[in-house]
Amino acid sequence: FAPWVDPAAKPYISVENVTKKFGDFTAVDDLSLTIYEREFFALLGASGCGKSTLLRMLAGFEEPTAGRILLDGQDLAGIPPYRRPVNMMFQSYALFPHMTVAQNIAFGLKQDGMSRAEIETRVGEMLKLVKLEQFASRKPHQLSGGQRQRVALARSVAKRPKVLLLDEPLGALDKKLREETQFELMDLQQDLGLTFIVVTHDQEEAMTMADRIAILDKGEVMQVATPAEIYEAPNSRFVADFVGSVNLIEGDVSARDGASARIDGAGLTILTENPGDAQAGSRVWFAIRPEKLRVSAARPEGAELNAAEGEVYDIAYLGDMTIYHVRLDDGRIVRASTMNSARVSEEALTWHDRAWVSFKPDAGVVLTR
Ligand code: ATP
Repeated sequence: FAPWVDPAAKPYISVENVTKKFGDFTAVDDLSLTIYEREFFALLGASGCGKSTLLRMLAGFEEPTAGRILLDGQDLAGIPPYRRPVNMMFQSYALFPHMTVAQNIAFGLKQDGMSRAEIETRVGEMLKLVKLEQFASRKPHQLSGGQRQRVALARSVAKRPKVLLLDEPLGALDKKLREETQFELMDLQQDLGLTFIVVTHDQEEAMTMADRIAILDKGEVMQVATPAEIYEAPNSRFVADFVGSVNLIEGDVSARDGASARIDGAGLTILTENPGDAQAGSRVWFAIRPEKLRVSAARPEGAELNAAEGEVYDIAYLGDMTIYHVRLDDGRIVRASTMNSARVSEEALTWHDRAWVSFKPDAGVVLTR
């Protein structure tokens, strides 16, 4: 995998063994991670995993129960939110309803005692940045959801923080607008050269925007990696299952050498070239994405291993691709998908057809946890 590299990037935020307890409930559990300068970093996890709590500790709205957070080498302990070079944009946007767009953007600058002329220049820059020059004198209720989102964004970067924290920034937008806005946010982050840390429970959003993603579960980091690495080389069943869909086949490692392993998974013998650290004799899970499985009417030639027969059980046509659920003869159901653009040469399979499911030895990974 291409690592995330920006030759000029330096470690910027260090979260060191941070724990946050509310009473005896542990929301963040001995969590450590490093975020680089100018990185677009995503905290991804299900509701309640502790991602907002971590963000709030970065902002200074909560203090860690244990551990510390360094920003550019400085321990943030005890530094109040307004004195941190960090700003937070909330999902609710929290725009002032009685103020115009320009006044909303100017609000924090005024509080900081910036001169009238400077404020005017800065507000102009911000309006241009988010393409709302024509809307300067409108009130929030006269704007669309997407426009309000951009005002909130302009307001939160107007003070030029070093780090922008975004809590579910696109949560209030409909799907189409959210997708467009994801690209706008990426462009904006590039243009401003800021570090963005976004909290989201939407894996597609994290995959689209982030340079790196931290997957959180129950207050702990499960994996930190680029979107491609998270998808192609998840380190656990949890991550494999959380991001995208996956077939998990439980089995025992019957043979292992340096580059490959053989796994006996109840009726299906798997030869894999991605054995990870699976030991001979151990129980493992073979994880394979639906698009790595081939479904065909006939047994693929030469496929002694990595092939199983079954019956087509469900077919879903999604336009760009078709999803097949195949019930293998041992009762297991696997999910396979085919890009429809590549389907020209594939036989058309239909409900209840007998079918073979097969895959190459380099498709899929072996997981030990
Ligand atoms: P969501 O996506 O639903 O916002 P999250 O991953 O951001 O979830 P957090 O808001 O960080 O989750 O909360 C993590 C856990 O800590 C939750 O179980 C929550 O109920 C609990 N929690 C958060 N803040 C407090 C608080 N002030 N007092 C008590 N419990 C809290």
